[in-house]
Amino acid sequence: MAHNEAAAAGRDPFAEISKKLRACMQCGTCTGSCGSAFKMDHTPRQVWRMVLGGMKEELFQSRTFWLCSSCYTCTLRCPRGLPLTDTMAALKRLAVAEGHLTDRRSPQFYRAFLDSVRKYGRVRETEMMTSYFLAVKNPTVPLSFAPLGLKLMVKGKMKVQLPAAAGGGKLARLYRKVGELEASL
Ligand code: SF4
Ligand code: SF4
Repeated sequence: MAHNEAAAAGRDPFAEISKKLRACMQCGTCTGSCGSAFKMDHTPRQVWRMVLGGMKEELFQSRTFWLCSSCYTCTLRCPRGLPLTDTMAALKRLAVAEGHLTDRRSPQFYRAFLDSVRKYGRVRETEMMTSYFLAVKNPTVPLSFAPLGLKLMVKGKMKVQLPAAAGGGKLARLYRKVGELEASL
């Protein structure tokens, strides 16, 4: 259930998310399978528990759902077949919709990523990171990424890219359509 739809129908979107997790038996398979869990302040298993316990404020202080890379491993492995990746995405959407942006950098990162995909049909790393650094307006952020950037360049995983012509905005229509659909929900 989309956030807008639940809210428009007078239902609590957080409660709607919680309903989908009712069958969680806290086995921890999701956490054990999550490649990003080592960076999360609450493990995925703890996040489901917090949702079920109605700990909305505490949850939106957490960075966990922002760090979910949507790899779907937890969803594939959950013995209860719960829509865990979709739930992480629903938490991100709800955080943006309700302004729970304790961690402002993550939404800015997502925006820079999606703008690059919309423009070129793929991510142009150098340009995307430049947009992100400009958006966060904090000179220490680019510095914190410098060691990783250098490592990637040495290994040939990332190249300095010259400005390129946008890919004709081929995905712009698709983005517009999704925007219209989301607004109508
Ligand atoms: S794997 Fe599924 S049932 Fe187990 S803790 Fe995670 S969400 Fe709950
Ligand atoms: S979808 Fe997100 S929470 Fe699930 S295993 Fe992947 S990174 Fe972890």
